[in-house]
Amino acid sequence: MQLYQSQEIKIQNSLSGKKDVFKPLNEGHIGMYVCGPTVYSNVHLGNCRTFMSFDMIFRYFRHLGYKVRYVRNITDAGHLVDDAEDGEDKIAKKARLEKLEPMEVVQRYTVDFHNILQKFNFLPPSIEPTATGHIIEQIEIIKDILEKGYAYVTNGSVYFDVIKFNEDHEYGKLSGRKLEDMIANTRELTAQDEKRSPQDFALWKKAEPQHIMRWPSPWGDGFPGWHLECTAMSTKYLGETFDIHGGGMDLKFPHHECEIAQAEASNGHSPVNYWMHANMLTLNGKKMAKSTGNSILPGEIFSGDNAILSKSFSPSVVRFFMMQAHYTSILDLSNDALLASEKGFNRLMDALKILKQIETSKISDFDVVAWKQKCYDAMNDDFNTPILIAQLFEAVKHINAIKEGRESISAEDKTLLESTINAFVFDVLGLEAKNENEGGTDKLAGVVELLIELRKEARDNKDFATSDKIRDQLAGMGIQLKDGKEGTTFSVL
Ligand code: AMP
Ligand code: ZN
Repeated sequence: MQLYQSQEIKIQNSLSGKKDVFKPLNEGHIGMYVCGPTVYSNVHLGNCRTFMSFDMIFRYFRHLGYKVRYVRNITDAGHLVDDAEDGEDKIAKKARLEKLEPMEVVQRYTVDFHNILQKFNFLPPSIEPTATGHIIEQIEIIKDILEKGYAYVTNGSVYFDVIKFNEDHEYGKLSGRKLEDMIANTRELTAQDEKRSPQDFALWKKAEPQHIMRWPSPWGDGFPGWHLECTAMSTKYLGETFDIHGGGMDLKFPHHECEIAQAEASNGHSPVNYWMHANMLTLNGKKMAKSTGNSILPGEIFSGDNAILSKSFSPSVVRFFMMQAHYTSILDLSNDALLASEKGFNRLMDALKILKQIETSKISDFDVVAWKQKCYDAMNDDFNTPILIAQLFEAVKHINAIKEGRESISAEDKTLLESTINAFVFDVLGLEAKNENEGGTDKLAGVVELLIELRKEARDNKDFATSDKIRDQLAGMGIQLKDGKEGTTFSVL
């Protein structure tokens, strides 16, 4: 029996506007699509928060024994500056400014994205498709939509006809907007506009002669509209209807609304059963965004090289900070908040070490079985990581009490406590034990080996003052040297 069979998950579904009981289309299997980054600049910490929320969700599903196909795309074409309908492609613009091939821009920032995610201990998605690798699929969908009468061609570009679509379907159901209100609140079209209505959006844009990113199509050389790539890639890898689609709150409208319209227009099916939206990371109370300069890069946090920081913070501390907030709540980044998270994270890691060493007795003062279910209840309630973390600290309290002899735990309960806490801390929250992912452990080992060698040389020279000094000072730092037949080894306490 798999764990998921005994746990009922509720998901805040943007489509229904409430928490719905999660039932996948195929028992034991989940199809999940998350809009990936537009690779025209370094990912900032805000982007990381959204991807981290879905990494945690992916991890929890896997922990429960689901087989998850997790698709997170790379947007390497079609996303226009300011998310506008007219204007330059973000990647083409960067390529022009930096005198690079667009694919050089894409490669540079895709590598950066992967490096950062690896530092944060993300699990790789099952498939990471690119927009440029799916131009043919996008063209096929446009043909379909044209055939069904929900799009029109103007001067080499193809636009989605929102008004026509809304006659037969409902445009705005995800974001809760009414088309009439949208029309009332937008400017009139000018004679130069190619669109029939301001709400219409581009499926295919004609490439002007100077536009460097271009592909042939039945409508002439051009490039796909941004919303289309996600419809093409999610349909290809997850089917016409799949379980979960995620992304940041800011993508709900127009991006996700347009995805629904495209899918329904082309194949008649509502594409997604559960739409999930992660909330924003803010800095100084404002949305973190590259374009406004109100952003901080992960690398600046790991090095401490930013004016708002008093020190550096490890990726796990930053991850812990993110997990302390529910993914649907706004989270504000500050030095004080990171310092507080670091303290909490260290307390948790210390308790895990203590847990390994505590003695067991015949009886337990701590109901580990009930506590374990509370951890699952927290995660089952729309992935409530702050409540889960509160439960983990409940366990920390007991661990410390047992260590101090104020409480006791049976051997069986200790084993259950250890396996549960490890599963939630490492597998589900994706945290790593201190220093492990900074390469710090390797470097530390190298330095200590060097000191062991110097100590041996000192001893060989009968310089016991120096050899004792090395041993004692290392011990003072929590590094214990142990002399044995095979030489000297060390352990970090
Ligand atoms: P982009 O690379 O601009 O397409 O954005 C990639 C992802 O990051 C999208 O899901 C956005 O919703 C998300 N995102 C952008 N800014 C923030 C922020 N300040 N906090 C959380 N997520 C964000
Ligand atoms: Zn998308």
